[in-house]
Amino acid sequence: MNEDFLPLAYLNAWEYCHRRFYLEYELGEMEDNEHILMGRHLHRNINEEGVSEEEGVTIHRQQWVWSDRLLVSGIIDAVEERDGLLIPLEYKKGKMGNHLNDRFQLCAAALCLEERLGREIAWGEIFYAANKRRQKIIFSPQLRQMTETAIWAAKKAVTGAIPPPIDNAKKCQDCSLQGICLPFEVKQLRQEMI
Ligand code: SF4
Repeated sequence: MNEDFLPLAYLNAWEYCHRRFYLEYELGEMEDNEHILMGRHLHRNINEEGVSEEEGVTIHRQQWVWSDRLLVSGIIDAVEERDGLLIPLEYKKGKMGNHLNDRFQLCAAALCLEERLGREIAWGEIFYAANKRRQKIIFSPQLRQMTETAIWAAKKAVTGAIPPPIDNAKKCQDCSLQGICLPFEVKQLRQEMI
């Protein structure tokens, strides 16, 4: 795949934290923590390509998709066929909530599917392992617009300077790149320089 195509997983990183996106995508930094390992563990049973049938639902696992219009590409964990509808599905390790980063990733995957298949995808689902529930995500005009805006912003950011650390201690504590990013130390230094 062309290097100009932004991987869907990095769109998720962009929405989580612009600095994290830059560290991972532009500088190639990677680090494991318990959240990364749990996510990998969750995907161990679903990361093989294939098609299966379960209770009248056809499940296409690990579907490669891309958009020539948006210049994004990646793999959807699964696409389910139910009652003539196509439903993209992502597996996440956390709990159901308002995680825009997960929504953007799923919506971008749906936009890719729509472009590839020439049909509209109205909604998708995210399975959250922590509470074993599926969250239905409607691909509203607003979510589509926000997703596209995030895609272009992330692409533009690649050519800029590294973004500053975010003001969200909880996110930083959960972030596997904290030891590389040093958010608290960088913020302290910036304050001392003012
Ligand atoms: S530690 Fe915080 S500021 Fe640094 S990359 Fe992670 S989330 Fe972003």
